[in-house]
Amino acid sequence: MRTVTLIKGDGIGPEITEAALQVIDAAGVKIKWEEVSAGEGAIKEFGTPLPPAAIDSLRKNGIGLKGPLTTPIGSGFRSINVALRMELDLYANLRPSKSFPGVRSRYEDIDLVVVRENTEDLYSGVEHMVGKDAAESIKIITRRASERIARFAFEYAVKNNRKKVTAVHKANILKLSDGLFLETARSVAEQYPRIEFEDRIVDNMAMQLVQKPELYDVMVMPNLYGDILSDLCAGLVGGLGLVPGANIGDEAALFEPVHGSAPKYAGKNYVNPSAMIMAAVLMLQYMGEEEAARRIESALADQIRAGKDLTGDLGGSAGTSEMAAALAARLR
Ligand code: NAD
Repeated sequence: MRTVTLIKGDGIGPEITEAALQVIDAAGVKIKWEEVSAGEGAIKEFGTPLPPAAIDSLRKNGIGLKGPLTTPIGSGFRSINVALRMELDLYANLRPSKSFPGVRSRYEDIDLVVVRENTEDLYSGVEHMVGKDAAESIKIITRRASERIARFAFEYAVKNNRKKVTAVHKANILKLSDGLFLETARSVAEQYPRIEFEDRIVDNMAMQLVQKPELYDVMVMPNLYGDILSDLCAGLVGGLGLVPGANIGDEAALFEPVHGSAPKYAGKNYVNPSAMIMAAVLMLQYMGEEEAARRIESALADQIRAGKDLTGDLGGSAGTSEMAAALAARLR
């Protein structure tokens, strides 16, 4: 039986995690969960939001499922999510956005994948004040990180029968940093002649995704553009409650919903557990449990299409736990 690290997370994290565990169990996958503390709870218990035990567990098991973590504002703590990605070198952030029939949104057949570089760019944490009245945040782009993220995107495209990779950048203005990213993506693309390659400037990409999303397939980009455009893609399929993310490195992988800890809904049994359940689907695919992953995804699609036992954001009146229980019943 595979051991998987479990971080339930803050705010709505524990409720949506409970939902995902129930669904995985109902799909018949046996997992030994190793629960570790991180986030707000860990600050109270251990004085740090990211105790070494959490990192050690992820390193040992090589795989984790995680609820959202609150980043305390102005407390001096760095984002725990960013720290986790850096510590474990989880360099690829994979964010697929796919339409669920029955969910009201502007488009019905979206199938987009954002591959976001996860370790550098403006998230490198190199910031300082210049005197009292100016601040500098340094954008770091390296050939090594650009190369491996471009390769990840092309390998993903090959394995998943995707046709095209689009590199997103602002190389017209950021000639050196984004220029290096683009030049590196172009040279990786030459090694994948069967996958179409093109590039787009990020502002144009944002408009194109809103107007003509059907033209795009897999998109690869530096960290900040990936952060923003993956939320845009989530918006195209009906919101944050549906979209999962995977943070993947050579030694470990961590699966989570794209959304945050939504503190105002914590403990209210209100939010949609689908993003967390879809994060579990990505995790099961990664573990080779393809059949269980496919069953969960299609049962969730069926439940959404049927329009019953759904949370408020999906137009229903069920709570988080009722939606999960109904999904688990479909799988048993
Ligand atoms: P959020 O995603 O937590 O919530 C924004 C809004 O989106 C909510 O108020 C709610 O209306 C909606 N929403 C989010 N999840 C939903 C769900 N499952 N079902 C239905 N509606 C849902 O974003 P925020 O308020 O900007 O951030 C709250 C905290 O989460 C912050 O501390 C932030 O740093 C953290 N955060 C963590 C992660 C992560 O752990 N990966 C990601 C994003 C934000």
